[in-house]
Amino acid sequence: MPILPPGINETDFSAALGQFAETVGTNWVFTSDEDVALYRDAYSPFWGSDEEKLASAAVAPESVEEVQQIVRIANRYRIPLYPISTGKNYGYGGSAPVHSGSVVVDLKRMNRVLEIDERNATCLVEPGVSYFDLYNAIQEKGAKLWIDCPDPGWGSPIGNALDHGLGYTIGHFRDHFGSHCGMEVVLPNGEVLRTGPGGVPGSKTWQQYQYAFGPQLDGIFSQSNFGIVTKMGFWLAPEPEAFREDTVAVYNHDDLIPLVDVTSYLTNSSISNGLPGLGSPLLRAIGTSWGGPDSDPEHIALLQTSDRPALERYGREKNIPYWTCNIKTYGPKEVINAQWAHAREKFASSIPEATFTEGEKLEFPLTYEQGEEYQQGRIAGGRVDFGIPNLSIFQIISRTPWNPDPKFGHYYFSPMIPKTGEAIFEASKVFTEAYDQLGLPRPPQGITSLPALYYQRSAMLLMALQVTRNVEVDRKNRSAFKELVKIAAEHGWGEYRTPPAFQDDVMNAYSFGNNSLRRFNETIKDAIDPNGIISPGKSGIWPKNMRKA
Ligand SMILES: Cc1cc2nc3c(=O)[nH]c(=O)nc-3n(C[C@H](O)[C@H](O)[C@H](O)COP(=O)(O)OP(=O)(O)OC[C@H]3O[C@@H](n4cnc5c(N)ncnc54)[C@H](O)[C@@H]3O)c2cc1C
Repeated sequence: MPILPPGINETDFSAALGQFAETVGTNWVFTSDEDVALYRDAYSPFWGSDEEKLASAAVAPESVEEVQQIVRIANRYRIPLYPISTGKNYGYGGSAPVHSGSVVVDLKRMNRVLEIDERNATCLVEPGVSYFDLYNAIQEKGAKLWIDCPDPGWGSPIGNALDHGLGYTIGHFRDHFGSHCGMEVVLPNGEVLRTGPGGVPGSKTWQQYQYAFGPQLDGIFSQSNFGIVTKMGFWLAPEPEAFREDTVAVYNHDDLIPLVDVTSYLTNSSISNGLPGLGSPLLRAIGTSWGGPDSDPEHIALLQTSDRPALERYGREKNIPYWTCNIKTYGPKEVINAQWAHAREKFASSIPEATFTEGEKLEFPLTYEQGEEYQQGRIAGGRVDFGIPNLSIFQIISRTPWNPDPKFGHYYFSPMIPKTGEAIFEASKVFTEAYDQLGLPRPPQGITSLPALYYQRSAMLLMALQVTRNVEVDRKNRSAFKELVKIAAEHGWGEYRTPPAFQDDVMNAYSFGNNSLRRFNETIKDAIDPNGIISPGKSGIWPKNMRKA
């Protein structure tokens, strides 16, 4: 038996495991070292240290009734549980619990696609359904619907949405929690609650209307430890007719300000509904799709200086833009062509020097070959732009000519900042200085990261810290991460999501009103989960008996 939940004696733990086995069958309670090791976070920043967060066992129920029974047993013996859907939360904790010694409730066997409604473009799924499963179910039904998936397709709509995950297709579908509709939750006392119209027995609009009568509770079950979600509805996108991707290029440093402003105008007025992609060929920013790697020594030398006018001049002479933005639009062919013509006009009137390149123009459904072709040469994006799940993102972290010395994983420092050029400049300066001060290796271009614009009205920085499996280096990186969280908070930037190692730190940064947010969460926790059995410590919410002074 690997480890015990803290404060639980061996007799009680064995009794609880025995009752779990009576509930789900002995084959579905995992206690051997070999089985429990599968729930380690392969990307753990604690790997090899005593602080690594480990499960004590795992249990895999097949039905809502079995989940209810597991929760009742856990209450009886005060066993901490940690629910996962597909458990692929790499970069944000994998399937390992926040509180070491928790029993992982692995929902992989609850993997039914319960409903696909083509007329209303909705679906209802269980937690073990992966993006691949949902995509296949839609294809098998022949429904003209798109899912929106994150880069790795092996995760689940429910697990991803509950951790506020994001994807790549059309407008609000990219926000996976925001485009859910209706939840079923097993509460810490074993009762089952349905949110939204699901509160009406036999509801006919559970996946169609997002509110209920009274307070909308859905949000309190995301990034939280208030229940185990057993069903969730999602809105799907009707397959669009066509897609086009065009690039705007600008040549001055300060052009980023109008570039972002016009992009926001286009997004906020739904003139362009795809995920805009910022890049900087001149700064050789990661993720920029503009020609191949440039090894001109003059360029490399200029990047080491702070002579911005000289760099801008060099960029103009060599036609290497300071900034680019890919504008993607989905819809009827004639409509998106007219939308691009309007977008182009808007950019040109704000930035007269801007140049434009027409890119991919596609009609749906794609052939497999078109999907392959589009994928080629892309670091991110590619098939996920069309809601086709795949795993090709892992090429960026595996051994390749560009990455000859791959590490053992990464975790993201990911603060949300305003979606303006000014904020990007400020964040770049703040974090470049912070990286230097903390001794973190920074990219030569002096900008730590260009933000991702998944959300319509805010920008997300994604700065990866490497997992090295060198205990000392990982310890230093963890302490640097904690400092980054504090520095971000001093500037009014909070993180959108974080691995278990830093959840207390991130919650500490949300300190408005003498930490009223955390205290309110704790009040709910104490009221609905007095024994503190569901995911103790998740998002910095600890039950009363484990709360530090
Ligand atoms: C290379 C790479 C690229 C990535 N790209 C993206 C990306 O594009 N977009 C993105 O969003 N993420 C991305 N990720 C992060 C992650 O892989 C995905 O978000 C993944 O979908 C999360 O895993 P999952 O769906 O299996 O969720 P899970 O691991 O099952 O769940 C996530 C968390 O939610 C909670 N939870 C899960 N199920 C339940 C439940 N039923 N009830 C209560 N609580 C529950 C648990 O606390 C769990 O830890 C990436 C990771 C890597 C390594």
